[in-house]
Amino acid sequence: MLPDGTRAAAVAVSDSAIAAIEDYQAPVEADRDVDLGDLALLPGLVDSHVHVNEPGRTEWEGFATATRAAAAGGVTTICDMPLNSLPPTVSVAALREKRAAAAGKCWVDVAFWGGAVPGNEASLRPMHEAGVVGFKCFLLDSGVPEFPPLDEAGLRSALGALAAMGAVLIVHAEDAAEIKPASGRDFGSFVASRPPVAERRAIEKVIAGAAATGARAHIVHLSAAECVAMIAGAKAAGIRLSAETCPHYLYFAAEQVPDGATEFKSCPPIRDAVNRAALWRGLEGGVIDCVVSDHSPCPPELKAFGSGDFGVAWGGIASLQLGLSAVWTAARPRGQTLDDVARWMAAGPAALAGLAAKGRLAVGADADLVAFDLDEEWVVDPARLEHRHPVTPYAGRTLTGRVRQTWLRGTALLGADGGAPDAEGGAPDGEPAGRLLDRG
Ligand SMILES: [Zn+2]
Repeated sequence: MLPDGTRAAAVAVSDSAIAAIEDYQAPVEADRDVDLGDLALLPGLVDSHVHVNEPGRTEWEGFATATRAAAAGGVTTICDMPLNSLPPTVSVAALREKRAAAAGKCWVDVAFWGGAVPGNEASLRPMHEAGVVGFKCFLLDSGVPEFPPLDEAGLRSALGALAAMGAVLIVHAEDAAEIKPASGRDFGSFVASRPPVAERRAIEKVIAGAAATGARAHIVHLSAAECVAMIAGAKAAGIRLSAETCPHYLYFAAEQVPDGATEFKSCPPIRDAVNRAALWRGLEGGVIDCVVSDHSPCPPELKAFGSGDFGVAWGGIASLQLGLSAVWTAARPRGQTLDDVARWMAAGPAALAGLAAKGRLAVGADADLVAFDLDEEWVVDPARLEHRHPVTPYAGRTLTGRVRQTWLRGTALLGADGGAPDAEGGAPDGEPAGRLLDRG
């Protein structure tokens, strides 16, 4: 899957980078050949929205387990969110703790977001200079007390500061004033408690702030498709805005979620099938730029499986290993191509995070590659996933398309057979060789 389309090709790798891209039949001098036959070769995916939670809440998810899941799912770069770990990444000292916690454990490359919270504006430029790929903020309670939200004045001030250094602000855009308390096992009631207008009101504030300051802003995990038109309008007006959605909003519909099935809880919520179709149109029209996981696991006991109470359960969906297959399963019947999927899941997130060597098969780019079988159907068994706890709403689902091998900077990650695609995909093998990336 090349930037200009799909064709039969040979990709030559030297010193961890792509050295040449030739016709499939062209003679290429190499120490080793791997012939993928009819498998697709994609750029390694870039998942710019992953909550690793280490240090501090490593029992929720850690670098070793998250990056194993990434490798198995064809994701060769993750960008770690600044919250849910302790300390949150809101200062250079905290970033150092993050990097120390991650060192030597990562199976894929890892970049870091910084946090913008009340009172840390003086830390933004030092964190930018220390290599974070941008900054995340919330506009309502984040779910953890150590990462408080910005109010509208704080948002405006952070955008102004980031505009001056050319850094992007990624925003959890829901407005607390439009959200009602939720409790009980009924998923419909939970969805109704966080209506589309909550996203709309918050995105309006982000657009106004980006327009006033000239800053780059990005909406994370867009769920309410009625906001697509507003985002399209802002982009058309020259406001520097981008947006992502997530596999769960594109694959599931609220009507299908069983009562008490809190593994489906996320904020904002999975909405109905009509909304899902409109999100797809937002992707197809180029308004939504990226599809990333928002992988945010927790220990099973925090999911309130006993009571099934959506008001009590932690909001977060675990899917890092499944995103490519889930999105392809839903995209293919809509007539979308794997080129589209690679644009949403590799090139788009790499551009968001400013990772120029990632997300595309091009000479000089890192040799991060994924061999993908477009046709294989398989059933998700949570016990065989690599992330920490065997909990995911995709359990038991039949997905189409399976990762058969992943290469990180030219080194095969899955299985022990020297890099040839594994019949079943598989688990990372060898030693973790992921790097901690700086912006740039
Ligand atoms: Zn998130």
